[in-house]
Amino acid sequence: MQIYNSLTRTKEEFRPIEEGKVKMYTCGPTVYHFAHIGNLRSYIMEDVLDRYLRYAGYEVTRVMNITDVGHLTSDADTGEDKMLKGARREHKTVLEIARFYTDAFFEDCRKLRIRTPDVVQPATGCIDDFIKVITSLLEKGYAYTAGGNVYFDTSKLEKYYVFNDFEEEDLAVGVREGVEGDENKRNKADFVLWFTKSKFDAQELKWDSPFGIGYPGWHIECSCISMKYLGEYLDIHCGGIDNAFPHHTNEIAQSEAYIGHPWCHYWFHVHHLNTTSGKMSKSSGEFLTVSLLESKGYAPEVYRFFCMQSHYRKSLVFSYEGLDNAKAAYQKLVARVASLKADGEVDRRAFEDLKAGFTSALDNDMNTSLAVTAYYDVLKAGTNDSTKLALIEDFEQVMQLGLLDAVKALREEEKAKAEPSEDDRWILDLIAARAEAKKAKNYAEADRIRGELSEKGIILVDTKEGTTYKKA
Ligand SMILES: [Zn+2]
Repeated sequence: MQIYNSLTRTKEEFRPIEEGKVKMYTCGPTVYHFAHIGNLRSYIMEDVLDRYLRYAGYEVTRVMNITDVGHLTSDADTGEDKMLKGARREHKTVLEIARFYTDAFFEDCRKLRIRTPDVVQPATGCIDDFIKVITSLLEKGYAYTAGGNVYFDTSKLEKYYVFNDFEEEDLAVGVREGVEGDENKRNKADFVLWFTKSKFDAQELKWDSPFGIGYPGWHIECSCISMKYLGEYLDIHCGGIDNAFPHHTNEIAQSEAYIGHPWCHYWFHVHHLNTTSGKMSKSSGEFLTVSLLESKGYAPEVYRFFCMQSHYRKSLVFSYEGLDNAKAAYQKLVARVASLKADGEVDRRAFEDLKAGFTSALDNDMNTSLAVTAYYDVLKAGTNDSTKLALIEDFEQVMQLGLLDAVKALREEEKAKAEPSEDDRWILDLIAARAEAKKAKNYAEADRIRGELSEKGIILVDTKEGTTYKKA
């Protein structure tokens, strides 16, 4: 399997450190608000990677943090604490906010068929681990105290800007928001490991530490949580491209300074979801969430399908027109799969041939749009339906488009239409009584029955073949 590594800027053959096992880390959400669908694009694409590695036979251990403390509105240590801002906005405590939005995040993930990582660790549960690493960084001379805060000294590294040839636009977040000067910093790129001198007197969550009462910086949590569960060697680290700098750059700096050797081999970055007017954010334009899409009639699977149709390393432009196209294509795909009927033995040879098309697409740096094409190749292939169904079931382990559930729902809907349920038996009885009344030319009684049904929201439709009904 070939995968693009942001660190080397090349597609590389994927080889985990320990044969057959993959240690994978994902930056989790900051739980102060609903996730917007731009953030969720990253989690969807990372989910496909996670599932594909498992499908390919690897034993994957995946860890994710939950940021419930210390993430300031700018990734470069300035601005307000996002958690506190959320709590103030909703007149709740930081803990209540964290719990509520953590649940909301996993509910979105469930709807989008994203597998929950093996370990999910809130930052507030690991304060001792952060203190241990920060203490060691101070001892080794990689960190210093100034103005009450503990900073990482980036000048102590041979190379700090590891992802430095990212496009201007990708770097813009950190650079633009980092211009607000912090006089305590020795170097412009230095970052906070532990805050004590908070600008915010109302900081709710504080812990005692050798450096004073305070709270951890955002970057330190991912390094510590990853090392706590996955050890000193990590195979693959995932996140959105906007995290490459400064967040992932800082994670590498502090992790490698702490352990004294290279830390993570592959860096997997998912690019932005843009709107037609630019980068999607919580502050500008319509706030796009899974629930909002659902309220507009788009199933979460349709959004997942929309994401699959483009490569994770390309910016994707979101528009309702684009989503409508995805919805139409998705419904057609469901209808085509629904028309397949199990008709005998699976043709192993055809199965392997068609499966090869699917795996070669994903082996080539997770080309999900070609993997979607593989579904269509199956549907038009000259093999029997049983083979096609087996292949779709196989692909769905990775892609999770929800096709099989959608087919099931479609069948149930059709069945319900074709034969009324027991609950509707009384309607049929009244229709029959009305037909009898009409036959006996008792039109008053026939009208009375129609009226009775109408009051209960049942509309009768007289056709040549007889009377049917619909529910208003
Ligand atoms: Zn992180």
